[in-house]
Amino acid sequence: MRYEVVIGLEVHAQLKTQSKIFCSCPTEFGRPANENTCPICLGMPGVLPVLNKKALHLAMRACLATHCRIAPRNRFARKNYFYPDLPKGYQISQYELPLGLEGHINILINGTKKRIRLTRIHMEEDAGKLIHGENLGSPGHSYVDFNRTGVPLIEIVSEPDLRSAEEAREYLTQLKAILDYSEVSDCNMEEGSLRCDANISLRPVGQKALGTRTELKNLNSFRFVQRAIEYEVERQTQILEQGDQVIQETRLYDSTKGITFSMRSKEEAHDYRYFPEPDLVPVVVDNEWIEKIRKTLPELPEQKRERFVGEYDIPEYDAGVLTTSRAMANYYEECVSLHNEPKIISNWIMGELLRELKNNQHSIETCPVKPEGLISLLKLIDEGTINAKMGKTVFEDMYRTGKPAKAIVKEEGLTQIIDSSVIESLVDQVLESNPEQVEQYKGGKEKVFGFLVGQIMKESKGQANPSLVNKLLKERIS
Ligand code: ADP
Ligand code: MG
Ligand code: ZN
Repeated sequence: MRYEVVIGLEVHAQLKTQSKIFCSCPTEFGRPANENTCPICLGMPGVLPVLNKKALHLAMRACLATHCRIAPRNRFARKNYFYPDLPKGYQISQYELPLGLEGHINILINGTKKRIRLTRIHMEEDAGKLIHGENLGSPGHSYVDFNRTGVPLIEIVSEPDLRSAEEAREYLTQLKAILDYSEVSDCNMEEGSLRCDANISLRPVGQKALGTRTELKNLNSFRFVQRAIEYEVERQTQILEQGDQVIQETRLYDSTKGITFSMRSKEEAHDYRYFPEPDLVPVVVDNEWIEKIRKTLPELPEQKRERFVGEYDIPEYDAGVLTTSRAMANYYEECVSLHNEPKIISNWIMGELLRELKNNQHSIETCPVKPEGLISLLKLIDEGTINAKMGKTVFEDMYRTGKPAKAIVKEEGLTQIIDSSVIESLVDQVLESNPEQVEQYKGGKEKVFGFLVGQIMKESKGQANPSLVNKLLKERIS
């Protein structure tokens, strides 16, 4: 690899408030177009914005949860540009005096911790949404919905510290977990509560100066972020290899075609004619207030991950997966409190449970199998009523039907066979119908043993106790 990949991310997160940032319109998602509006968020002349205290409070939580220093005095600024979904002709944001500075997020890459520095966190208002007539059966017309206009956001800007698409994805996963734990944002990517712009450049390995970057706008899923970056790295590599230069520009990602394409040449800060917002007073935050908020922060993902490793003696990888959301971590701890088998439970959650959640597009909150349900299943396995393999089938049934493990085991007659005489006769049956394999085994081909075990398990419909099968087969065959 002749080039090093350099990535910096700008993430917009919607703050979890009931009302907008400068007026009292609701932020509720999915209302009829333009219902959540008033003269303030529609930018009528003569109206005055007033800062939503809850929004400031949540933004401060985000800063503290990411180790940012909170500026004792910060200020809003007007970012001027024209766009049909921006009725005032400017966006109220923060510029030279943002709320939070110099934070960091730790990520785990192949088991090693890496610190990604944050440049800043600032507050701003969201713009509206354009809906183009092509999608509504009226081509040539465009519609605007101002429900989002004035919804409170924070923008979290990282330093260019990320070195691969994988690191970018890991950073986003951690950031999302932090915002979820600290209850700053619901991070719902489908509803646009979390959006990411990715800045990407390449530089020859060993070079200090940063290369020319492109910016990929509005990526709304982690998968798209990763794919878009991978595509962009490939594209820039080809340009550089040909001896050409990357053009600094803003690009969009087409997720169906899997490509990025140019949207516009990159604007510079001076294009926006930033100036302090005259309608809002500067925000002054004292230490006492900061400390009061700091005290209300819960255990954060990184602390929880480290505690899980120490307290439950599970691998760091497991702890990382189990702490990606607060709900998932709670689910795990509830299970462990009912049944003290931390690693077995971790395996079941990371394997069977996550697979079902994914296949059914459920989240842990909407998971039909609750901790008590999973644990009653694990206890049946523990007691030897069923074996682990049968347990997996029972789990699928529990997930599908919502029935308890015991009921499924009973209905389907699924108890494990531990009667030696029954297993012995299965062994005999299989040895008789596979004389060739028996000869091979006796001739020293030990791998055949596994095949025979498989046949016996199959004959028993998966219900034979595997260790008894092993033991009795060994006795018989030798
Ligand atoms: P803007 O996008 O508004 O112009 P900045 O210039 O502050 O804002 O940069 C935004 C993001 O781009 C930051 O996350 C920063 O780390 C990243 N960035 C800046 N220069 C580069 C570069 N050469 N390569 C990759 N990322 C970069
Ligand atoms: Mg940018
Ligand atoms: Zn309003």
